[in-house]
Amino acid sequence: MATPLFPIIAEEITSKGYMRLDRYMALALGHPQHGYYMSGRSFGLEGDFITAPEISQMFGELIGLWSLDQLHRQNVMKEAGFFELGPGRGTLMADAIRAITPFIQDHGGAMPIHMPIHMMEMSPALKQQQAKALHPQPVIHHNDLDNLPPMPLIFIANEFFDALPIRQFIKQDKGWRERVVAMAGGKLTLTTITTNDAPPEDQTPIGNVYEIAPQLPAIVAKISRHIQQYGGAALIIDYGKSNPIGDSLQAVHNHKPVDILDSPGKADLSAWVDFSAIQTAAADMRILGTRDQGDFLKSLGLYQRAEQLSADADPKTRRMIAAAVDRLSSPAQMGRVFQTMAILPPDAKGDVAGFLP
Ligand code: SAH
Repeated sequence: MATPLFPIIAEEITSKGYMRLDRYMALALGHPQHGYYMSGRSFGLEGDFITAPEISQMFGELIGLWSLDQLHRQNVMKEAGFFELGPGRGTLMADAIRAITPFIQDHGGAMPIHMPIHMMEMSPALKQQQAKALHPQPVIHHNDLDNLPPMPLIFIANEFFDALPIRQFIKQDKGWRERVVAMAGGKLTLTTITTNDAPPEDQTPIGNVYEIAPQLPAIVAKISRHIQQYGGAALIIDYGKSNPIGDSLQAVHNHKPVDILDSPGKADLSAWVDFSAIQTAAADMRILGTRDQGDFLKSLGLYQRAEQLSADADPKTRRMIAAAVDRLSSPAQMGRVFQTMAILPPDAKGDVAGFLP
């Protein structure tokens, strides 16, 4: 499809010979005018795909309570804040704050505790939607992780890491080559080039694909360092795999899979998150998980919350709540492909909600 981004990509390929996949993905998602996320119309029923917080308020509520529990255990509730990465429409945070407000306001009859809300977002349109979703609470927006507020933070990342640009290497009979985008007959096509960044040579069979997200280690390291210094925790939820192997790059348009080269800037691109890379980057921290999203939500009280909401609901709403529980937690739906991982201070002791057997 000749999208507005296509000629920009084509020109760069013509002048340089090829484009690396991470560059292609970064442009397709984040080009300041024509990137996929710039329209702000991606999520929900009318968008291209639906995420867990858009399926049900229960998702954000349970994560809010998880956060509160962590802050209580670390005894830092009065000075802590939230930091969400890639908050989309802001739905998760709005649900989380609504769920925990009664608890932070009832704190021994004292003044309500004020928890500042920080968000990292690259799309101006989504920044606006996030501010609106949280109104009247102010949102402090960031473009990167370089100016984190000096306080304990709960970092939340739902379907953020899967949007990080990836590189792909493919094992061929003469060794590893890198997969890149080229032009053929006026169209985008995939090809391979020799590489100096080959993955560590191993027993991988010919034809296997090896994926890395070059930005991931620095992001996880910055978050980890902050938690180590100030306290808090990180909760990461995403389509997950446990190693770098496998071609997981996918494109979705109007709820349907499409070719990754088909409509740059008009389709969502994502890749499964290699949780082993997160674990490596957070090696000196206390790490919980990965755990299936379904088990995580159930152990936080998904069923109980659904029952509560159903009690006063009409039959149609009850059916919707039951369907949402199924969609979020059943292994055949989002319950198993989505994985959760928590990063805590190295010296954090005791059980962690959501990760109990
Ligand atoms: N968490 C939301 C949205 C997931 S989509 C939900 O669950 O509904 C991915 C989000 O990450 C979008 O808000 C997108 O604009 C943002 N994003 C992706 N890459 C980013 C980057 N490098 N920096 C900042 N935000 C990014």
